[in-house]
Amino acid sequence: MSEYEYDLFTIGAGSGGVRASRFAAQLGARVAVAEDRDLGGTCVNLGCIPKKLLSYAAHYEEDFGDAAGFGWSMIQPTFSWQTLIANKNREIARLNGVYEKLLGDAGVTLLRGRATLVDAHTVEVAGQRIRARHILVATGGRPAKPELPGMAHAITSDEAFHLARLPVRVVVYGGGYIALEFASILNGLGAQVNLVYRGSRILRGFDADLGATLATEMTKKGVTLRLSTQISRIDRDDDGLVVTLDDGTLLDADCVLAATGRTPNTAGLGLEAVGVEFDARGAVQVDENFRSNIPSILAIGDVIDRVQLTPVALAEGMFVAEHLFGGGRPAPSYENVATAVFSHPNVATVGLSEEEARARGAVRIFRSRFKALRHTLSGRDEQTMMKIVVDAASDRVLGVHMVGEEAGEIIQGFAVALQCGATKAQFDATIGIHPTSAEEFVTMRTAVEP
Ligand code: NDP
Repeated sequence: MSEYEYDLFTIGAGSGGVRASRFAAQLGARVAVAEDRDLGGTCVNLGCIPKKLLSYAAHYEEDFGDAAGFGWSMIQPTFSWQTLIANKNREIARLNGVYEKLLGDAGVTLLRGRATLVDAHTVEVAGQRIRARHILVATGGRPAKPELPGMAHAITSDEAFHLARLPVRVVVYGGGYIALEFASILNGLGAQVNLVYRGSRILRGFDADLGATLATEMTKKGVTLRLSTQISRIDRDDDGLVVTLDDGTLLDADCVLAATGRTPNTAGLGLEAVGVEFDARGAVQVDENFRSNIPSILAIGDVIDRVQLTPVALAEGMFVAEHLFGGGRPAPSYENVATAVFSHPNVATVGLSEEEARARGAVRIFRSRFKALRHTLSGRDEQTMMKIVVDAASDRVLGVHMVGEEAGEIIQGFAVALQCGATKAQFDATIGIHPTSAEEFVTMRTAVEP
């Protein structure tokens, strides 16, 4: 009999952990996974899925307004936050069940409880010690709040999904994914939103045209952007919260949402005691095969803090399963990872920004700004922005960027083209689908002057 009860013990049943566990079991490994919260991790419970459902809800307000231009008239719509949250919770509970079934069907043992490491091959869950040949840490991350006076009054995205009522006055702190998505959701649902961001341009690290365009469009929709500004302190008074900004402005709020990045979940797992090393940001340090400095302990997903995206964690999980138990999948590439910010309007991007591409060599830039056909009758003043970054020497398309309706749906297809090394000439040779916004990506012919 083996000295190990399991070939793989996964800590954390989020996107990455569940995928690695299922794939390993399908390859014949004996697998257990421990989880002390709801199955599915951040994405299912406190991230991608509930966020997108709330984003759909927030879109209706505009849609009702737009309908008049198409001949519809309707009674004044009303909105119930409680109904939305109850329906969202029901769908999340269904997904928790789907995850449990997926694990069961794959033959993975699910242990409910918090797992801690005892040694390089032993974990303890609910008082039970279990030995495993490999241990996979897939514990994800959690929201991080800056330390400043009164920050305890601020909530994070974790709590935003379960608020008892929709706040009327909201201050969102941050200028990244979560800040922009929640600012859009809460604004769309009727809250007055101030977004406070320390930088001069939201979406730092993205192509500059994306942040600039989104800022203009979000402002038109009613979000107040306060850039190059920081929160100094938050106080509670009889009327709610008072947020003091570093320029002296006071903002009254019912809710302050800190969306200031996420930190890897490494505490309380016994990793230090076993000797697992962390990088400067506190993430588990792993090699190209996701192995830590302790060979039997591996880690994937947000806890290694490479790219905090569900599809990346899935790719890492599948690779680890095959690396350990057979199968020839290559290590995941972090190039050309397409991503979307589900702000209103959406932002989506794949490949290099103009700034990154220029740092590597000469480029040609193609950019289009236009009003989508739908808004000719809706009357809405909303601009779509599309941009292609091309390597001047090889004609290869290096980056494709968009702000506009369904940007995520559109950019996904172009990510395949970039993965295949498409050139601008091949974009040009592609016949468009008319009338769509996406066809603009294959009809831009004149480079923007440098
Ligand atoms: P981001 O890194 O996207 O944004 C964090 C924001 O907070 C930045 O604007 C940052 O400013 C600001 N910030 C950080 N620290 C401080 C501080 N001490 N004081 C003031 N401001 C601060 O993180 P999020 O929390 O929005 O999301 C975490 C990650 O989760 C994302 O990076 C993404 O990978 C993933 N995610 C993906 C989504 C999607 O795919 N649609 C949706 C939500 C999250 P600065 O720019 O100056 O550093």
